[in-house]
Amino acid sequence: MFRMLINGKLEAGSRTMEVIDPSTEEVFDTVPDATVQDVDMAVAAAATAYPGWRDRSVDDRASVLEAMADTLEANIDELADLLIAETGRPRDLAMFELAQLGAGYLRYYASLRLEPELLIDDETRKVELHRKPLGVVAAIVPWNAPVFIACNKIAPAMAAGNTVVVKTAPTTPLTTLRMGELFADIIPAGVLNILSGGNDAGSHLVQHQDVSKVTFTGSTQTGRKIMEACSATLKRVTLELGGNDAAIVLPDADVATIAPAIFGFSFFNSGQVCAVIKRLYVHDSLYDEMCDTLGAIAASCKVASGREADAQFGPIQNKAQYDKVCAYIEQAKRDGKVVVGGDIPDGAGYFVPLTVIRDVSEGHAIVDEEPFGPVLPVIRYSDVDDAVARANASPFALGGSVWGSDIEQASAVASRLESGSVWINQHCALDPSVPFPANKQSGFGVEGGVEGLYPYLALQMVNIAKPQPGSA
Ligand code: NAD
Repeated sequence: MFRMLINGKLEAGSRTMEVIDPSTEEVFDTVPDATVQDVDMAVAAAATAYPGWRDRSVDDRASVLEAMADTLEANIDELADLLIAETGRPRDLAMFELAQLGAGYLRYYASLRLEPELLIDDETRKVELHRKPLGVVAAIVPWNAPVFIACNKIAPAMAAGNTVVVKTAPTTPLTTLRMGELFADIIPAGVLNILSGGNDAGSHLVQHQDVSKVTFTGSTQTGRKIMEACSATLKRVTLELGGNDAAIVLPDADVATIAPAIFGFSFFNSGQVCAVIKRLYVHDSLYDEMCDTLGAIAASCKVASGREADAQFGPIQNKAQYDKVCAYIEQAKRDGKVVVGGDIPDGAGYFVPLTVIRDVSEGHAIVDEEPFGPVLPVIRYSDVDDAVARANASPFALGGSVWGSDIEQASAVASRLESGSVWINQHCALDPSVPFPANKQSGFGVEGGVEGLYPYLALQMVNIAKPQPGSA
């Protein structure tokens, strides 16, 4: 059994929970289920380690992050096997998450250096802007990209000089716990603590009075609860929440050219990504062609366990989400027409066919809500202004994209979207150096880039009076 990392030691805890393999629905492993006492121990360890870590040089802290990235890469095959087991995803996707996103974000934040900024330097005074770490950071992680999201919180928090307590998602703790075991000897005790546990452990962690900041990725519903819990001690909070990204295909687009990319950015990780295309608005003149082309691509793909070498898309990660996705598909079949997919197979595993639904619109759940699974509604429009208004009408505003042959025109349309990121002829293009902001009810704050480091730092203005001629 993998153990939790608390104060530099590997701890089995006093109770356990099972991890289900989504490809088989069988118990794959058992992990510790953190109790309130485990959470308290981890926060105490992080609080004790904080002054020492804060006072290390930035270069020194960066070398620890680099060593973590090296360790992750050196053990990537073993970690990929675990990630495939707990998520069901294909190997190339597991490797991408570990290498490009996990190690990539650790290395990016190791590379950043922030100098104090000189704001005023005149005869009377010198004013400098400094940034200081906050203390103990609680990082709460969802199940859809467990390694990436953990690293995207651990890296900037530790680089900034904070210490961290991570709470993994209840259904995907394995890879992160194993990383904690591998990191135990290279991180000073207490600087990074990794807990596996349920929602109750997360709830206790975010309320803890010795936690200074909470960084959370997950559902909007849980985000609201966390914001409320943080209000008691006015903790800093970053919330990366749900999305219902719209993509608009303009009348001048070439369907044959863009359809494969639109398909890829809609069904990536079987749709279990906050910022994949979840509403596809297609101009009337291209509507039938786009539906048919997407349907043909989806029909040619293999959905299977990531352990099968030719699997292209894996199952839904957990039973609760599988039930939700199946319900969305059943409702969508009543509301619109199935282009491809739609029939949930019998047998073991949370497998859902890649499903494209046409002739649906606002007012249908598949358009208004976030299914978080491999089902794409294609929506007809005839007026670009109307498509922009409909794209913006959602309470979510994470990402959005516009597709067309005239880049200038597509960019002009994209600039009218209200989402945190807009992409032209692509979607969900992530890079560690590029901020990923969440607008409206998709969240609060920003991750990625230098802007993603600032929320782990408090501002301090240093204001020095200069001696004046003739003064005593
Ligand atoms: P979730 O909100 O159910 O759970 C996320 C985490 O919060 C888990 O670790 C859970 O144990 C913990 N948790 C639950 N209740 C808590 C509480 N009261 N206090 C503290 N912690 C608590 O979300 P999920 O189902 O794991 O993830 C799917 C959602 O995440 C989707 O809505 C998706 O859009 C969103 N998401 C957003 C982003 C982004 O960057 N905006 C990225 C990935 C996923």
